[in-house]
Amino acid sequence: MYLETKLVQAGVGRDQTTGAVSFPVYNATAYRHPAQGQSTGFDYTRTANPTREVLELAIAEAESGDAGFACASGMAAIHTVMGLFSQGDHLIVSLDLYGGTYRLFEQVLSRYGLCFSYVDLRDLQAFEQAIRPDSKAVLVETPTNPLMQITNIQAVSEIAKRHGLLTLVDNTFMTPYFQRPLELGANLVLHSATKYLGGHNDVLAGLIVTKGKELSEKVRFLHNSIGAVLGPNDCWLLLRGMKTLALRMERHQSNALAIARKLQEHPAVAEVFYPGLEAQEGFDIQSKQASGYSGMVSFRVRFPEQVGPFLESLNIVSFAESLGGVESLCTYPATQTHADIPQEVREYVGVCDRLLRLSVGIEHPEDLIADLCQALDASLVARECIR
Ligand SMILES: *Cc1c(COP(=O)(O)O)cnc(C)c1O
Repeated sequence: MYLETKLVQAGVGRDQTTGAVSFPVYNATAYRHPAQGQSTGFDYTRTANPTREVLELAIAEAESGDAGFACASGMAAIHTVMGLFSQGDHLIVSLDLYGGTYRLFEQVLSRYGLCFSYVDLRDLQAFEQAIRPDSKAVLVETPTNPLMQITNIQAVSEIAKRHGLLTLVDNTFMTPYFQRPLELGANLVLHSATKYLGGHNDVLAGLIVTKGKELSEKVRFLHNSIGAVLGPNDCWLLLRGMKTLALRMERHQSNALAIARKLQEHPAVAEVFYPGLEAQEGFDIQSKQASGYSGMVSFRVRFPEQVGPFLESLNIVSFAESLGGVESLCTYPATQTHADIPQEVREYVGVCDRLLRLSVGIEHPEDLIADLCQALDASLVARECIR
C-alpha cells in the first residue's frame, strides 16, 4: 500500500463497536480491568491510550519503523530519547542545528554529564574523527535548519554502525512522505510534529519512531517513565493533519521551488538556499536519499538594513516563528529560532543577520510570489533612503 493510502486510512475501521470512520478521542485516563490479572490493553493513559495508539501505529508505519511514540512536543521527544544515554556519554550532532535542541543540550543535559560535539556532517571524515571511545550516538538534521545543508544519511549510518554508535535523525523538515531515514540505516527518527505532520499551525506535538525490538522497548520504557506524552485531543488533531500530508507536501514543494527560482532573480537577494535547486550543494545526495525537497527556503538579502522593511512590508506571508503549516511564514533566525546560539557560533555556521527563512505554505504560488517581490522591492527602496 502506498504511503498516501496508509495515512488516509489510519484508524479507519479500528473502532469496532461503532464503526466510526474518524477514530474517536478517548479522554479516559483509567480503564476497567475485566478481571484480576487481565487488561483490555489499556490501564492508565500515560502508558497507553487508544487514540494515541492509532497515531503511534500510523507514524511507525509511515517511517518504516517498528514502534512509534507520541510526545508533548518535539523537544519532549528529543529529551525522552536522550534518556537512552548516561552520565559521561558523548554524542556527535549536526553543526547547523535547531536552536531549541542546542539549548536543551548545552543548558540542560550538559549539567547531567552528557557531552556534545557539533560537527559539519557533510564532511564524513570530520565525523569519523570526532568519534571517541565514549561516543554513543550521532544526531543528524538533514536538511539543516536554516541553511539546508544535506547530510548523507546512509554514509553516516554506516560509519556510526562500524563504531557502535546509534544514528538518530530529526526528520521534521522532510517528513516520511519525502524521506525515510530508517530505510537508509538510521536507528531512530524524531519529529517536531508541530510542523509538517500537524500541518495547520494549531497543535504542538513530537514523535519518535524506532527500528528494532531492543531499542523500541528501551524507548517505550522511557516514554512511560518520563511521561512527556501527547494528550488524546492533540493526538486526534495530529492524526487528522497527517491524513492530508501527501497532498500538502506536494503543494509546499511546488510552491517552494517556484519561489526559490523567483528569489534567485531578484536584485534584493544575495543568495538562496533550497535543496531542490540543481546548483545547490548536496542536490545529488538529496535527490538520491529523498523523493523530494520539501517546502523550506532560506535566503540572504544584500544588506542587514533590508530585513526590517522587508518583514514589515509582507502582507500574506506572516512574520512568525514556526514552519510546516498551510499558512506561509517568514522567520528571522538570528533573533528568533537561533537566538540561543551564541553569536560567534551562529555567524561561523552562516546564520548571519541577513538570513531569512520561509516556510512556504499552500496558498496560490502567484499570490506568494507577488507578496514577497513587493516586500523585497520595498526593502531596497528603504535601504536607499537609510543610506
Ligand atoms: C520545531 C523543531 C523542533 C522542536 O519541536 P517543538 O515541537 O517546537 O518542541 C525540533 N527540531 C526541529 C528541526 C524543529 O524544527
